[in-house]
Amino acid sequence: MSKIKLATVWLDGCSGCHMSLLDIDEGIVAVAKKADIVYGPLVDAQEFPESVDVALVEGAVSSQEDMKLAQLIRKRSRIMVALGDCAVTSNVPSMRNWVPAKKLLERVYVEGVQANPGVPAEGVPALLRHAIPLHEAVKIDLHIPGCPPKADAIFYVISELLAGRKPDLTNKVKFG
Ligand code: SF4
Repeated sequence: MSKIKLATVWLDGCSGCHMSLLDIDEGIVAVAKKADIVYGPLVDAQEFPESVDVALVEGAVSSQEDMKLAQLIRKRSRIMVALGDCAVTSNVPSMRNWVPAKKLLERVYVEGVQANPGVPAEGVPALLRHAIPLHEAVKIDLHIPGCPPKADAIFYVISELLAGRKPDLTNKVKFG
């Protein structure tokens, strides 16, 4: 039987959700028996591949680059999962939403530095006006709240999806 293609993605998040994913410990062996991890910070793939079965996405959509990647993931994935509060509600990244993006960049790159002040014209993805939750960018099939979600909950979701079932997260997750 061919293995399921599993991708993990890190948008505007702190990587804590990926750390929680790694906390499934020996569960990773069970996952590896049924799935190939084809993209994400845990593997060395440069481009999001075609025909992914399950994509777990951490982080809010904060830049044009995030938006493009979110749309590509949606196009190429059968099941797209918002992993953690930043993906589900935009959480921490949305704390900047009340400051205009231009002002924010000036605060960081001009007022906040002592040498070579100036907002970089290259190498920094253009910010969206607001950091938004994933479901405001694309259709999402499943939300796993938590900051970060518990490893048990992540393992449960992956196991159910690998078994071809829809996970029931009632009483298994909470925000924060
Ligand atoms: S939900 Fe929490 S742990 Fe996950 S990326 Fe956001 S701040 Fe980090």
